[in-house]
Amino acid sequence: MLDTGSAPGVPRSASRLAGVPVAVVGGGPVGRWTALLLAQAGAVVTLYDDGSLNTGLINGGWGFAYHSHDPAVGHLATQGIELYLRMRDVVLPQGVVTEEWSTVQRASGAAPFPEGLEELEGYRRLDPADLSVNMVEGVVVHSVVVPGELLLGALAQLHKDLGVTFVREHVADPADISDVAFVVNATGLASAWLYDDREFTPSMGTVVRLRKPEGFSGVYAWDDATNCAPYAISQDATGHVVVGGTTKPVTIEQAREWVDAGSPPDMATGEFLLGHISSYLPALAKAEYVRTDTGIRPERSDIRIARDQNDARVIHATGFGGFGVTVAPAVAARVVDLVAAGVQR
Ligand SMILES: Cc1cc2nc3c(=O)[nH]c(=O)nc-3n(C[C@H](O)[C@H](O)[C@H](O)COP(=O)(O)OP(=O)(O)OC[C@H]3O[C@@H](n4cnc5c(N)ncnc54)[C@H](O)[C@@H]3O)c2cc1C
Repeated sequence: MLDTGSAPGVPRSASRLAGVPVAVVGGGPVGRWTALLLAQAGAVVTLYDDGSLNTGLINGGWGFAYHSHDPAVGHLATQGIELYLRMRDVVLPQGVVTEEWSTVQRASGAAPFPEGLEELEGYRRLDPADLSVNMVEGVVVHSVVVPGELLLGALAQLHKDLGVTFVREHVADPADISDVAFVVNATGLASAWLYDDREFTPSMGTVVRLRKPEGFSGVYAWDDATNCAPYAISQDATGHVVVGGTTKPVTIEQAREWVDAGSPPDMATGEFLLGHISSYLPALAKAEYVRTDTGIRPERSDIRIARDQNDARVIHATGFGGFGVTVAPAVAARVVDLVAAGVQR
């Protein structure tokens, strides 16, 4: 059994949900962590994913506790990182190379760092004199950098070990899934069209992968001049440097069109990003280009971890914007609590 310790909301017993049939729709970070913790609590889990969105896969790493305007997100991020750090030896198979390194993040008064973050090992507030690249304020953040594909792959392996059934299928209407007591909606932005949820305010993010120059370690900064948060994350596991940090707000309809078109990369934004970051990280200007990817941040006016108002079988877990990978373990723990409360009713 996974050692999920005594974090609030974390299942403590494999019999807590023994035999309860649950469908999880969506195999991004939130759906996969949810399937894992549900199965660990004894539920009989079926996970559906149609492969239509790749947001959980293209980010540079896992564990960035971004500054957020929403204290609820900050709390989930802190809890998610804490839970991951406690479970990492179980989650990641032996031999997977991950990196844990310090990044510099900007926090302004309007967007404070998550409460409690500095109490975690490895976090320390920076001396303003150390700051550069137009930064306002910052802390050194002990980030856990796990390439998305490795993390999701490792979770998939654990699902197999715990008997989770994976179905590669598009779910047209979660209400049609029969023979389950609960359906978890972890479909990210697709929830906007599945449930006609107009509260989403999505944005596109583009990352460029380069072959990692020798000795390059990585940087995260905020550039007020371009309202861009360029980062260059070094990934030993893939031999790449992942350059990212752009944000382009889009409407739900524009996002839908982009998904229907097969999620093409935004090459123009990638070129801008590369030129911009190369201007202060010259080592990257000459690095070999690998590829460009674009994804969607499924932001919502507020995060939604709640039972559906019309269908008590459905539990929504959506709206995690640019933080979904970081908060996923904590979100999953809350969903398990909601399922357990539903069983008791
Ligand atoms: C460029 C970029 C960089 C990022 N970097 C970070 C980072 O460093 N740290 C961080 O914490 N977050 C990061 N994010 C944000 C993070 O990727 C998202 O918050 C996260 O993926 C959201 O997770 P999710 O599981 O809620 O949704 P998603 O990842 O969107 O997963 C939803 C899944 O549901 C599936 N699906 C949808 N509809 C259906 C259906 N009807 N039937 C079956 N399956 C369906 C989709 O195919 C998809 O796999 C980044 C995002 C981008 C775009």
